[in-house]
Parts: sequence; C-alpha cells; structure tokens
Amino acid sequence: MTSKQDFQNGCAPCSPSDFGSGSFVTELASPRPVWSSLYRGFRKRCPACGRGRLLHRYLKVFDRCAVCSESLHHQQADDGPPYFTMFLVGHIVIPLMLIVEKQFSPDMWVHWASWPALALLLSIGLLPSVKGALVGLQWALRMHGFSDQDPYP
Ligand SMILES: [Zn+2]
Repeated sequence: MTSKQDFQNGCAPCSPSDFGSGSFVTELASPRPVWSSLYRGFRKRCPACGRGRLLHRYLKVFDRCAVCSESLHHQQADDGPPYFTMFLVGHIVIPLMLIVEKQFSPDMWVHWASWPALALLLSIGLLPSVKGALVGLQWALRMHGFSDQDPYP
C-alpha cells in the first residue's frame, strides 16, 4: 500500500492499479494503429479517418480535419520531415548513381545533369508525404497532445 507521502517523495512503486480507472489505463486500452496512421499520413490524409486532407499550402497542417474534426494542430514535426526525406532520397539516388556508373559508365556531364535534378525533384515530391507520415505517427503514439484527454481542444 502506498501513501500520498510516497508519491510526493517519488519513491513509491507504481503500477496501473495505483492510478485507478483514470486516463493512463484508458489510453492503454485503446491503442491507435501505427501503420495505417503512417500510411494515411503519407497519403496526406487525416490519420484518424483517412479521408480529410491533412496539408494545405504544401506543408501547412490543417488545425482540424474537415471530415472528422480531429484536432491536428498538436503536431510538432519540426526538422523531422527534411531529415527523413534526405535519408530516403539519399538511399534512392546514391545506389542508382552507382548502378548507372557501373553498368553504363556515362560521361561525367550526364551525372552532373541528372542526379542533382533527380534528388531535387524527389525531395520536393516526398517532403509533404514524409511530413504527413510523421504527423500520423505522432497521432498514433498520442504525442504532443494527440491524446483523448486534449487539454486544448
Ligand atoms: Zn479526419
């Protein structure tokens, strides 16, 4: 049995039963699907319903889903989307560049003309989808206020 003094001292052993039937137990009982949320976000759709648009003006996230009214303003993607976009583009372009060089050995101007352009186009094309996927992941993991107990609805 733990006392209030134990919790205030921060030395009491914790278990879900210590919290009663409050928010901690409720959140564990209703997990959100991570992979479908990632996929919905990658398609730039609301991670909750999969139908409402997630982004406007290229990378701006809507405050609320127009279809299901899910609050989306909690997202804090920050520098994550560019980082993961560069990671993906690098893992696509560099192997392609090496394969083309090994198989065809084109002139150097072909490399200079093609790979930077491909990397730029892939980055511009993938960045909104990667941002959507990260917002979907944050929603699925209930990060940054994406929980049922929204203090700022
Ligand atoms: Zn929605």
